[in-house]
Amino acid sequence: MKRLIKYNMKNLIKIFLFILFLTPFTFAQGLKIYGTLQPGNLLIGVTKNAKTILLDDTTLDFDTSGVFIFGFDRDAIGYHKLKVIFNNDEYITKDFKLEKRKYKVQRINKMKTKYVTPPKSALEKIAKESKMMKFARKEVGKLKAPLFTDGFIRPVEGGKYTGVYGSQRILNGVPKSPHNGVDIDVPKDTPVKATASGKVLIAGNNFYYNGNFVLIDHGFGLTTVYLHFDKLNVKTGDYVKKGDVIGFVGMTGRATGPHLHWGAKWYNKRIDPLSLLGLGLALDIKNQ
Ligand SMILES: [Zn+2]
Repeated sequence: MKRLIKYNMKNLIKIFLFILFLTPFTFAQGLKIYGTLQPGNLLIGVTKNAKTILLDDTTLDFDTSGVFIFGFDRDAIGYHKLKVIFNNDEYITKDFKLEKRKYKVQRINKMKTKYVTPPKSALEKIAKESKMMKFARKEVGKLKAPLFTDGFIRPVEGGKYTGVYGSQRILNGVPKSPHNGVDIDVPKDTPVKATASGKVLIAGNNFYYNGNFVLIDHGFGLTTVYLHFDKLNVKTGDYVKKGDVIGFVGMTGRATGPHLHWGAKWYNKRIDPLSLLGLGLALDIKNQ
């Protein structure tokens, strides 16, 4: 009997959490927020008649339909304040408290030594690529249109998720920076789709760590990145629609086998790409 109660409680909690996920937090008339509040996640908000929207001291972009986004970095914790100032100068604020998120430790032991500690001869190439990446990312935030309001899709269907967001990486026994995306094991040449519409900020060839890769700007500071392609199907400056094939899976750059690395950022904050997938829910609101 005790066990039964325990079981039912577990189920009730599960159902409650499920409903919580599907239901937007409604703070006041005219402000709804979609997503799950935790470090590494992106959230979508919808409001009406806003004049200014602030997250802590940062002014957020929003469009005429009142859609805005914000996200939290991997290691964000503590209190954050969202403030919406309306056209009539009234305002509402909402405080969020972020609990520390726990991350896995992932050990990869078959990495080629040159990707764990790059040889001196590669340092110049790595520095040049880092500059190219910085140059491409200078565009982030300039696209003042949310091209993602019809939701996000997975870049590949199926596949085994072999790497998760945020994990502490230990390559051949050497601690490295955390993993800023998910790794999906899919066969070489699997077509990879843009998870939302956007502009290709850089389609890079043969980068030391990234291999052949694509960085897409979806507007309002949100970017997604796709690494280790065998072949690219787009070039820098292209506009892509959600679902367009941007490249084919490979193992170029720092990879031990064919897989897709899928990452996301909101400005310079590292976002868990899986947190984007539930956000198509915001659409219903936009069309109301
Ligand atoms: Zn990866």
